[in-house]
Amino acid sequence: MLSAIEFSGREAVSPAAWKKALATAVRDPDDLIDRLGLPEGLREGARRAARRFGLVVPLGFLDRMRPGDPDDPLLRQVLPLGIEEDEAEGFVEDPVGDREAVLLPGLIQKYEGRVLLVAAGSCAVNCRYCFRREFPYGETPRGLEAWRPALDRIAADPTLSEVILSGGDPLVLSDAALEALVAALAEVPHLARLRVHTRLPIVIPERVTEGLIACLRGTRLAPFVVVHANHAAEIAGACAEALTRLVDAGVPVLNQSVLLRGVNDDASTLVRLSERLLELRVLPYYLHQLDPVRGAAHFRVSEERGRELVEELRRRLPGYAVPRYVREVPGAGSKVPL
Ligand SMILES: *Cc1c(COP(=O)(O)O)cnc(C)c1O
Ligand code: SF4
Repeated sequence: MLSAIEFSGREAVSPAAWKKALATAVRDPDDLIDRLGLPEGLREGARRAARRFGLVVPLGFLDRMRPGDPDDPLLRQVLPLGIEEDEAEGFVEDPVGDREAVLLPGLIQKYEGRVLLVAAGSCAVNCRYCFRREFPYGETPRGLEAWRPALDRIAADPTLSEVILSGGDPLVLSDAALEALVAALAEVPHLARLRVHTRLPIVIPERVTEGLIACLRGTRLAPFVVVHANHAAEIAGACAEALTRLVDAGVPVLNQSVLLRGVNDDASTLVRLSERLLELRVLPYYLHQLDPVRGAAHFRVSEERGRELVEELRRRLPGYAVPRYVREVPGAGSKVPL
């Protein structure tokens, strides 16, 4: 266990700060356009697209964007665009076959040995390319009692060794709710690992509280945190400190990215991202081929281009800094290497 002493000497993070950051996130496209001084021509499309999939951008993430630049790589990830409404061949509502893999509401299994719990129905940031843009979160359980059937199902399946808390973003749950869920999982004897898939340490770094770290360190399950950043400019200031708090506490942190046109589809950008992660002792895990979800066709990068980029990464980076370039294929037994 971490003692309070190990934390002293470092600036304490107020346990309430992240909730405030979540509550004050920009959710109105007009507000986003005004704050960043973006071209007026974007306004109509942004309003329309945000009606289909809401805009959410925490102010601390917005601060890392260049004002007045519609091509800023962080902005592109979150800015609703009129072209999201264009039909694109092969871009569908549920591109990864999530619906067929639902065992029970909120419990998804595609791969042997690990199950995914949709632990929360919302995120701290809405990424326009998200493959769960249209996931029916309304059907997922809320609160420990509602989770009971899923927990019983996990307990009844000794082939499972790992639970992945996903979402939405599991770290929008309070520390108390997380602790209760983790405690219930730790009671299942055949579980060995707990994985948390989250973007909060990137977009609201204040979420990495002492309470969260205590929860991850305090469980008998081996904890792994998988964050999601696509560009080195995301990992600035408080975000770097948050990742360092996790790593210093002995929690392994991995990163997954999505290959996105206009965000990170060139080798130097990907090299800088990996180098930035390594500086912070975070390992690049996956580089995902974009899932063809309706509304995200403008982010598409061809697999051929993706393979060229990864080859260049192999030349320029140590092997452990090159993420695995993968695609999700509905029905496949794992992510498929490209
Ligand atoms: C991606 C995914 C996982 C995790 O796969 P790993 O290769 O172990 O990282 C697990 N379950 C589901 C449903 C997934 O989509
Ligand atoms: S944080 Fe993850 S789950 Fe949430 S919108 Fe972004 S990609 Fe989707």
